[in-house]
This record gives sequence, C-alpha cells and structure tokens, in this order.
Amino acid sequence: MVIIMEPGASQEQIDHVIKRIESAGVKAQPSLGEERTVIGVIGDKTKLGDMPIESMSGVERTMPISAPFKLASRQFRGEPTTVEANGTKIGGKKLIVMAGPCAVENNEQIITIAKEIAKSGATFIRGGAFKPRTGPYNFQGHGEPALRMLAEARRVTGLGIITEVMTPHDVELVGRYTDIFQLGTRNMQNFYLLREVGRSGKPVVLKRGLAATIEEWLLAAEYILAEGNPNVILCERGIRTFETHTRNTLDLNAVPVIKELSHLPIVVDPSHGTGIRSLVSPMSKAAIAAGADGLLLEVHHDPDNSMTGDGVQSLFPAQFDQLMIDLKSIAGAIGREV
Ligand code: PEP
Ligand code: MN
Repeated sequence: MVIIMEPGASQEQIDHVIKRIESAGVKAQPSLGEERTVIGVIGDKTKLGDMPIESMSGVERTMPISAPFKLASRQFRGEPTTVEANGTKIGGKKLIVMAGPCAVENNEQIITIAKEIAKSGATFIRGGAFKPRTGPYNFQGHGEPALRMLAEARRVTGLGIITEVMTPHDVELVGRYTDIFQLGTRNMQNFYLLREVGRSGKPVVLKRGLAATIEEWLLAAEYILAEGNPNVILCERGIRTFETHTRNTLDLNAVPVIKELSHLPIVVDPSHGTGIRSLVSPMSKAAIAAGADGLLLEVHHDPDNSMTGDGVQSLFPAQFDQLMIDLKSIAGAIGREV
C-alpha cells in the first residue's frame, strides 16, 4: 500500500503519518516527488488493524500496490528516479557511459584506459577488483590493491568508480573506494548481499541474473530499496537462452518493460550481452534507441593480453571513441544527450 499525501502536505504531517505507521510495527518509506510525497507501507499490513490513515491530516488517499515488488514499482513512484554518484546524475536527460576493463590488472593498465575513455566522454571507470570467475583456478582479481588503483584513476581523470562487490563482508571495504557498487549477475539473488548494500545507502548497479525473469530482478532490487537505499540502477547484461552463437542473449525488451513497470534507471551491458567485440557497438546503439539510461562497456587497450577471457568482447579505445560519436545522433533523435 502507498499513502499519497496532499500536494502541500507539511513535513510535520508527513513525519506524523510515518510515526503512526511505524508505531504499529510496519515500515514506512517516504518518496519525495516534485509535486507530492508518497509513503510506502511495507510489511504485514494486518498489523495496522483499522487505523484511520485516510483521515490523518495531510493524507489525500491510500492505494494498494498490486505488483509483488512495491518500492520498485511505478505505482509507488510515477516519475523517474535519478541516482547521483560522483557528482553525476544517472537517469536524467544525459546518458551515462561506464567503461573500462573486465578486471583491474595493474596501475598502468587502468590509468591508460581511464584516460582514453575520459577523453571520449565516459563518466565512470569500471574494472573488477573481486572477480566472480566460473573456475576456481582462474584469476580472481587483485582485491584491495586494485581498489587503490581505481582510486588513483579517479584522482587522475575525475571519473567516478564502479566496481563489483561479491560478499556482504566486503561491502565496507569496497565502499571505502567505490562510487557505485556493481552486483554481478551471479549474485542477483544473494539476499544477504542485497540487504548489506541496501544498508550502505550507496548507489548500486544491479545486474540481471543470467536466468532471472524481470519480476525476479525487480524483487531483488526491492531488497535494496526496502533497506532504505533508493539508489538502485538496473543493468540488463544478457540472459541464457538456447542460442549459442552469442555468449548471452541481450534482452533489449527488458528496457521498455522496466520503464513501464518501474521508476528505476536502467543501463545496458552489451559486452557481456553479446560476448563478441563486433556486436558491442551495434547493440549499444540499439540499447540507447530503446530508451536505456546508459551503458556499461568493456574497453581494453591491449585485449589480447587481458587477464580474464573478456578481451574478446572489449572495445579498443578507438572503437569506443567512435561509438561515443555515433551515440550523439541517436541520443539527439530521442531527446537525450551523451
Ligand atoms: C563483469 O562486469 O565483468 C561481470 C562479471 O559481469 P556479469 O556479472 O554480468 O557476468
Ligand atoms: Mn567481464
């Protein structure tokens, strides 16, 4: 259920409603809109008994939310959410491009790539310090030293940082360095991790699980939101299907579907979505045309020698630069900017 406050409701009235709801042992989460505040009621509503919510001062009406995800739904918040990280707004008119290698390999690598992508107009540097590898003997990431290298890349270029966190235990450590947590496809339903990044309050890019439905994905986002962290950005990165030509099947349907069901921003990762370098630029353009708020892309200056297998899907810096130029006209055609 959501409680819709009157357009001119005072902070005092809002606080009073929240206090009454929470006194019954149910959580109340406000969302400030341009016009009015709505308060999401989460938990066991039977605890509210016959509390006369609609007659409380400042309340316009209450409305049930039919979707299984509540705070993530359009019914809870009609206008798009924007998330701010490193002084950049994600989900607004300007498209956000996050780019960089699969993994942070060494200082020289990450600084070289960061400078290249910054020159081309990216706003965040990506790169894993903790890598979720399919095999236990594969390179697992350099851990904290890699986080320090990312921080150095940010200092040199001004780019924000997005990097993956894999366990609740590492949230504090990774959070000391990063601007945005990346939750990988394999951890979309790691519910303890979802709750922990929720408690951190920091922006989170939540990748779609490789076999997750859109509803399961939004329910995963709901775990983060329910901890009081509204800064969730969804990321479509391809799903498993019968098709084996590409690494995954990039489900671009998800972009307009998410826009219909949710107010959360969504970015697309065509690098993991296709697994093939030549397909990354065309699918990036398609993602933006479909309404995505940005892209998460792998870029490497020396992909043949990358430490993960993802060199084959990494753009060369010159290809990335060309893509950024091409995106300008697509963005312009749909009323957006790069
Ligand atoms: C990555 O971004 O390098 C990564 C491991 O992505 P995913 O979780 O989508 O496989
Ligand atoms: Mn990768």
